[in-house]
Amino acid sequence: MSHPYLTIDLDKIEHNARTIVGLCREHGIEVTGVTKVTCGHPEVAKAMLRGGVSSIADSRMENIHRLKGAGIHTSYMLLRLPPLSGVEEVVDAVDVSLNSEISVLAGLSEAACRRDRIVDVLLMVDLGDLREGIWPDDLLPFVKEAVELPGIRISGLATNLACFGGVVPSEEKMNQLVELAREIEKKFGLTLKWISGANSSGLELIASGGMPRRVNHARIGEAILLGRETTHRRAWPNTFQDAFLLHAEVLELKEKPSVPVGVRSEDAFGKLPTFEEQGNVKRALLNVGREDLDVEGITPLAPNLTILGASSGYLVLDATSAADDIRVGDELSFYLNYSALLAAMTSEYVKKHLLRGGVPMEQGM
Ligand SMILES: *Cc1c(COP(=O)(O)O)cnc(C)c1O
Repeated sequence: MSHPYLTIDLDKIEHNARTIVGLCREHGIEVTGVTKVTCGHPEVAKAMLRGGVSSIADSRMENIHRLKGAGIHTSYMLLRLPPLSGVEEVVDAVDVSLNSEISVLAGLSEAACRRDRIVDVLLMVDLGDLREGIWPDDLLPFVKEAVELPGIRISGLATNLACFGGVVPSEEKMNQLVELAREIEKKFGLTLKWISGANSSGLELIASGGMPRRVNHARIGEAILLGRETTHRRAWPNTFQDAFLLHAEVLELKEKPSVPVGVRSEDAFGKLPTFEEQGNVKRALLNVGREDLDVEGITPLAPNLTILGASSGYLVLDATSAADDIRVGDELSFYLNYSALLAAMTSEYVKKHLLRGGVPMEQGM
């Protein structure tokens, strides 16, 4: 292989989806599969749907168009707040929109009316994580204006935690969301069908039985794709953590000093890295680098390899204790975390090899 590549094991993704969907179903929670970290990869979405997710969510319109273009018929949720400049496109292509700005809702309303359509909207509430959402104190006045807009159906509330501020989804936070829903229903005579309370950070709360019964929807990406809940990044029972693996080729394998030789200044990225004196080490150079992924987010499968660093095009490993087993031209494999996976999926230099039944599928991406 002249390029680094990802293997994407679709059966493992399907299995993980089935595990997560099963758990959520036991607690009355429907799961929407989140594909954004895979750039809306159609085969990944299909594997999630085979595993039982009821619909697909992505943060980018391009990805939703890609999925629809691949002929995947399901309901689509746009996860990122729609831009005021893009309301027409959203009404055309999206079934459920998450919203927090009244001017954008007004834009969606006009666009929906022009098309004689109704857009389902979940109002995004910020329970303290400080990314998107209406602050709880402002929610009732917001709804008062929103209910007047034709073409908009306020079908529920949603919140997103553990993404920006790292706030943990607790029973108190979820009760607060449910309580806000009750107030809105009472005050405006609405029925809120959906309380979308969780992403992959909510699995422990769900499994422990601490999720209030009214919370009936979750938007799950990482737990299905990488098999981890996201408050402690614990591997989730009965899921695979290696549905995605990175493979790269050894280009050079040489014994060299552990500390650079000569007067030193900044490296290629403006940093002044430190080096530990360990005598000579066997160093392996691989054909993958910062242009392709977040090097801090990958872990060699082989426990006797250590990542020393990377430039845009090279990954440098200490292979001293594995040197007898490695040759130039060999492929080495790595686990990826969410951040590394996001970058690798986005890099056109990293090829994507789909596996089904453990063997390669015909088409790539
Ligand atoms: C990314 C995202 C999710 C999915 O989060 P995971 O941690 O991957 O489960 C859910 N909701 C929103 C709004 C998101 O942006």
